[in-house]
Amino acid sequence: MPGLSARSLAGVWHPCTQMGLLDDTPLLALARGEGAWLFDTEGRRYLDAISSWWVNLFGHANPRINAAVVDQLGRLEHALLAGCTHAPAVELAERLSALTGGELGHAFFASDGASAIEIALKMSAHWWRNRGLPERNEFVHVTGGYHGETLGALAVTDVPLFRQAYGPLLRSSHRVSSPDARQAAAGETAAQVAARAAADIARLFGERGTQIAALIIEPLVQCAGGMAMHDASYLTEVRRLCTLHGVHLIADEIAVGFGRTGTFLACEQAGIWPDFLCLSKGLSGGYLPLSVVLSREAIYQGFLDTRIERGFLHSHSFTGNPLACRAALASLDIFDEDQVLDTNRVRAAAMANALAPLQTDPCVSHLRQRGMIAAFDVTIDDPALRASFSRRMHMAAREHEILLRPIGTTVYLMPPYVLEPDQIRWLVGQTMAALDQTLAAPPLASPKASGLTQPSLHQIP
Ligand SMILES: *Cc1c(COP(=O)(O)O)cnc(C)c1O
Repeated sequence: MPGLSARSLAGVWHPCTQMGLLDDTPLLALARGEGAWLFDTEGRRYLDAISSWWVNLFGHANPRINAAVVDQLGRLEHALLAGCTHAPAVELAERLSALTGGELGHAFFASDGASAIEIALKMSAHWWRNRGLPERNEFVHVTGGYHGETLGALAVTDVPLFRQAYGPLLRSSHRVSSPDARQAAAGETAAQVAARAAADIARLFGERGTQIAALIIEPLVQCAGGMAMHDASYLTEVRRLCTLHGVHLIADEIAVGFGRTGTFLACEQAGIWPDFLCLSKGLSGGYLPLSVVLSREAIYQGFLDTRIERGFLHSHSFTGNPLACRAALASLDIFDEDQVLDTNRVRAAAMANALAPLQTDPCVSHLRQRGMIAAFDVTIDDPALRASFSRRMHMAAREHEILLRPIGTTVYLMPPYVLEPDQIRWLVGQTMAALDQTLAAPPLASPKASGLTQPSLHQIP
């Protein structure tokens, strides 16, 4: 991009970035995208192995999604969704509901994931209030969970770095054990770890169940918490406990929805439905900001009244944006037309086969995979090297033509659903080469960077 000097680049304050470390990890200036590839301003290519923060499903500049958005652009780019409606929002609500077998038939739209979480939390507490039980307003979240970074969502997010910085601003929430299968003791199964974690919920519900509005979980994979995976039996047990104690279950499938874990929705693997389902990221195929909270009939009925204050009080300017809804509809069409869940099984198997050699690598532990998410942890003894690993690995990956952002010392692959098996093998080969280069590299030359032992912002996704 002509005229993009280092100084003009700093005019943009980047998310999840310590701007003071940009000398060590310079920004990647992108010019265009095509399929799984991103191209920088110098014409170099990078395979987007993390789907641009887990949002992109069918590649960049996808012709079918482009055509739908362009068509919509000529009809209606945006209009308010209060007092007005339009076909893209209605059709999308209907199709999403159908994907839950009609269990979650009411769609409340917003623009990003964190807002969907705010909506689910507010809706749950307000529902109890309308029920005459305003004291049911406490929330429960899971250790290592991540639900976004607005204040309400942060209150149910368990990331120590965020807690340190913003804890005083947050309403308290109950935290229960994580079902992360990596916690298994010798001889213990993932299902046993899940049962232990569920027992912690049973204990809390037994003590305080009548004060609790909702429990929020990330089904099957706690992504931002380091791609922590758990047994599907956790979901079955959580559903049972919530029903038993009358607590709402909020499933945050913002990252794991849309085929990521092998099924269209992660909850399907346990045969359960939550009371609230939050979707975003892949919802628009990763094209435009869009999120939605799907809820059950009983939730919707709890707000039906003629009194304003008993209606759900929430709005965003771009709620249900028609362009974003059309992108979402085009993305759902691709799922149907290309039998994406089936072809992803082939991709996932190719990923598993290619990664298998890491099982015997002494530096690698907990190689794990759930559908189109694969991850492993890297053992690094030196604290300074460990703290800078994710940044150094990111840079080494760039040299190997792939875009990766390890979470701390967890390396993960979460590519778009467009790679052929040989491209997946290439991706895994490049990842291993970048890992070898990172682990072989001497400590960073800059004393400022090598002295960094505090977790850096780059540690989080
Ligand atoms: C990304 C994410 C969010 C937040 O979505 P934003 O659009 O970034 O606000 C919430 N929950 C989960 C599980 C996520 O992965």
